[in-house]
Amino acid sequence: MLIDTHVHLNIDEFKDRLDEVVKSARDNDVLSMVVVGIGGRTNERAIEIAKKYNLLASVGVHPSNAATHSFSDVLKYVDHEKVVAIGETGLDLYWPENQKTLPEQVVMFRKHIELAIKKNLPLIIHVRNSFNETYEILREYKGKVSGVFHCFTLGLEEARKIIDLGFYLGLGGVLTFKNAQELQEAVKRVPIDKLILETDAPYLAPDPHRGKRNEPAYVKFVAIKLAQLLNSTYDEVAKITTNNAKRLFKLGDQNV
Ligand SMILES: [Zn+2]
Repeated sequence: MLIDTHVHLNIDEFKDRLDEVVKSARDNDVLSMVVVGIGGRTNERAIEIAKKYNLLASVGVHPSNAATHSFSDVLKYVDHEKVVAIGETGLDLYWPENQKTLPEQVVMFRKHIELAIKKNLPLIIHVRNSFNETYEILREYKGKVSGVFHCFTLGLEEARKIIDLGFYLGLGGVLTFKNAQELQEAVKRVPIDKLILETDAPYLAPDPHRGKRNEPAYVKFVAIKLAQLLNSTYDEVAKITTNNAKRLFKLGDQNV
């Protein structure tokens, strides 16, 4: 069984088809999912969905929303029993409008980190064109907090730095892309006990669905690709990555 550690079932794109999407995920080996908040109403929605479908939630303000959204709902929901992580948070310097909000993003990122330490919860980190900036901030807190670099798409050097910080790598659809050779080589050379799986649905669908709307059911294609890269089996990869996710998010049998 698989755990999809990063889904956005809480955004409008899925509003009218949640029953169907969750059922399809369950029919495709998905034991549980982490529904990830990005700010505003999405945090409350993540918890509502986690309750309704017996899933898990994370609350946070996405770096793209750092200058416009409040941290107050993260504080409001962090103690809810369904919340297993803080985020997504981090830094995004990809979009031109985000390059202007770096100071606000940094302030917001530090609030998430400090809350994660206080609540002993892992962080879900978003990085885009911002690895060094993100890494340097997290390094100040090394040993005090763990988490995952979600949608990891970089190379071996960055992978090793993340693992050295005590963090995990979240592998999604990009792993299956033909042009992701550097990522694929990196993944072969890091400890498998630091790898967890995700879709980031509705974004970044894996092959053979690349370019279409992503769904948690497709996390299976990421597992199949990882098994192929590691000369392992789907069952073995499923077992190990699910155990890794349970360890990171401190999940007991009652949670999943
Ligand atoms: Zn996300």
